[in-house]
Amino acid sequence: MLNKYSFKAQITWLSTSLILLTVISLTASYWFRITEYAESQVKNQLLFAENVLNQNLVSQEKMLTTAARVLAADFGFKQAVASRDSNTINSVLLNHGERINADLMMLIDVDGQLVSTSASKPLENALIENSIKSLPLIDVHAQFLSIDNLVYQVIVVPVKAPRTIGYSVIGFEVNNASLLQLKELILLDISLIKGTVLMTSTMVEQIPGTQLLSHATSPPSNLLWSKDDFYHQVRPLADSNEISVILSAPLAKYHRDFDQLVYSILVIALMVIFIAIALSKLLSRGMAKPLHSLMKLTERVGRGDLNVPKLTTDLPTEFSELYQSFSVMGAAIKSREEEIKFQAERDMLTGLYNRQKIIQQVTKSINEKQSLTLIAFNIKGFKALNDTIGLINGDNILKVLAQRVCQYLKPIDGTSVNVKGIARLNADEFLLVIDQLNKTQINNFLEHLLLELNRPYWVNQIKIIIALSFGVVLSERDNDDAECLLRRASMTVATANQEQSQIRFYQTGEDEAYLNKLALIDELKSALEQPESPMFMVYQPKLNIKSGKIDKLEALIRWINLKGEFVNPEVFIDLAEKSGLIVNLTRWVILQVVIQIKTWASQGYQFKVSINLSAQDIQHDTFVEYLLDTLAAHQVTPESITLELTERDLAENESLVITRLTYLKSLGFQISVDDYGIGQSSLAKLKQLPVDELKIDKEFILNLDANKQDQDITSSTILLGHKLGLSVVAEGVETKASLVLLADYQCNYAQGYYLSKPLKSNELLQWYMNYDNKTLS
Ligand code: C2E
Ligand code: CA
Ligand code: CA
Repeated sequence: MLNKYSFKAQITWLSTSLILLTVISLTASYWFRITEYAESQVKNQLLFAENVLNQNLVSQEKMLTTAARVLAADFGFKQAVASRDSNTINSVLLNHGERINADLMMLIDVDGQLVSTSASKPLENALIENSIKSLPLIDVHAQFLSIDNLVYQVIVVPVKAPRTIGYSVIGFEVNNASLLQLKELILLDISLIKGTVLMTSTMVEQIPGTQLLSHATSPPSNLLWSKDDFYHQVRPLADSNEISVILSAPLAKYHRDFDQLVYSILVIALMVIFIAIALSKLLSRGMAKPLHSLMKLTERVGRGDLNVPKLTTDLPTEFSELYQSFSVMGAAIKSREEEIKFQAERDMLTGLYNRQKIIQQVTKSINEKQSLTLIAFNIKGFKALNDTIGLINGDNILKVLAQRVCQYLKPIDGTSVNVKGIARLNADEFLLVIDQLNKTQINNFLEHLLLELNRPYWVNQIKIIIALSFGVVLSERDNDDAECLLRRASMTVATANQEQSQIRFYQTGEDEAYLNKLALIDELKSALEQPESPMFMVYQPKLNIKSGKIDKLEALIRWINLKGEFVNPEVFIDLAEKSGLIVNLTRWVILQVVIQIKTWASQGYQFKVSINLSAQDIQHDTFVEYLLDTLAAHQVTPESITLELTERDLAENESLVITRLTYLKSLGFQISVDDYGIGQSSLAKLKQLPVDELKIDKEFILNLDANKQDQDITSSTILLGHKLGLSVVAEGVETKASLVLLADYQCNYAQGYYLSKPLKSNELLQWYMNYDNKTLS
């Protein structure tokens, strides 16, 4: 709840309420204390006043008593009383009274009847007589007597002659003037009441009589509680039953003092509140400033600016500690971020850029309209090298290679090439992106780079020499995109590898051909996977020249692509080999051929069928297994199958190939060397190979009848083949003349368009049945 207010507001509220609480409790406490004090003061004052009043009454009484005694002892007076000489009594009373300043002089007979009276104020006798009825006729104390609305202090003295013959009464009026004199003595206002009637008072001007009476008869429980200006106390006046005195102590002073105090407290409180607000403002500003700078800091960190600046201002300890923590956090995040960024952009093995990062760099340069040279390079036969020396050693070579490239590109070598980035694209393929140079400059540059990179690599003290191929692509137009340039570079280095060339420049248009190839590979892949394959087998007959019979066929694959076009087998077989699809393709062929042989056998035809293999097939781990399983599954014997491999296929991974072929030959398969004569293998080599048949390449046969050189080569090859115990096949026989020549050379088999083009299985049977063995005649 509190949290929605600002820190500043909270501090202000807190201090203000604390101060107010203090003020209220202080005021309350003072209020009680002052009330107590005022009460005791007032009570003291009243006590004092009462004492003084009593003293005064006593001295007045003494005076009265003396005066009354003097009067009573006056002989003339006694005589006048005894004789009831009223004139004399009157004049004595008058004289006497005047002498002592008495306000009332009376003579009462022993029965209490008024005899004579002399008063400073005119009084009706009836009223006097009525009043004196209550007067006890004893001469001890002065008493109070009210007549009409006047009050007198009177003393009664018997007049004795010697027996009591009457009573003289002398009185002083207790009037306003005498009360005012008293007030000066007791310092309190004083009023006289008779029953509930106000007789006289020193404070008639300040309080109306009725209010005075009501306040006096019901005093407030607390002095300061009432807003009255006076505290009244009613006391009986001497022994009087009738008349009471009200002493009124002024309270205004206490009220005033209290108000003054509260006022001062309030003023002080206000000042303190003001100071508190100012201080809390200062305090909160003191907190707000560091908080603000910390907030700014977190905002910066949030924005990704992780360079926390050094603390320049003085902050309270807690804040500077917090600031330090932020700065440590910023540094930690920064290093994490850099690490993540590095991992996201780098190739972990070499520390070079990865593909994504180099694509970014190239895109950036293209956007900035810079012309670039992309140089892709890889290690020739790296896979084989990896297989030989192991992955870890292979990785080390890649690392050292990357280091050497970076080292070479450091400008200290005087190379003026502006490097945009170096990346490892995949296993052993690297990409170097530099500013555009001309062809000569690039050749020069690579020549020097090669000096560095071709130096031997050492793996466990074994010296390793690697060969590198380079594919160079120059960005041409502004609208080149990075992906496309990278693909061209990869393609060019792949072509350089195939062509066994060290540096190859991308030629405009190669890209499209390459893309077409890729599309074709895709289509080929799905063609092999489809149950209703768009591929099929054709069979080309081989004529046994000596017997004139057709007992062998060569199985050749055909493919009609999605566009309904015939795809040249040499093209897609080449693609299948490059893309690794050949293994599946050969398996598909084997299955088709085996099923066909079985079908023919069931129809009563026995053909030996040649199947073309590629190097990858024979080297494949499960090839032999698959071949044997498939034959067994269809009860076809190895004797029905001839496996054709070219000289080049036989040369690759020679020992493994020889082992496998030897095994297959031992099982009854025939092994044939295809396209013989165009490769480099010598006849001496052939001797070591487990082969049964030699197929002279059609290059020597197609024009055999017309070319003397071909005739020499062919005749001697046949001769030598026979010497090695091999059966010899001539393919590409297109004319009768060629066939006659071959028969002449004792060639064992002839294959070619002169006999038949490759045919679908049913067409072949048709052809076979119509074949009348007149080809030679
Ligand atoms: P290859 O194994 O040398 O096959 C012989 C090629 O010569 C076939 O071409 C055949 O049609 C052609 N030929 C036969 N007689 C004549 C002739 O009198 N004149 C001319 N000009 N050509 C003749 P095709 O069928 O186009 O096959 C080309 C190559 O494709 C084959 O050469 C072989 O290397 C490969 N190939 C074809 N089918 C398969 C297959 O099933 N598996 C594998 N691995 N390769 C195959
Ligand atoms: Ca062949
Ligand atoms: Ca051939």
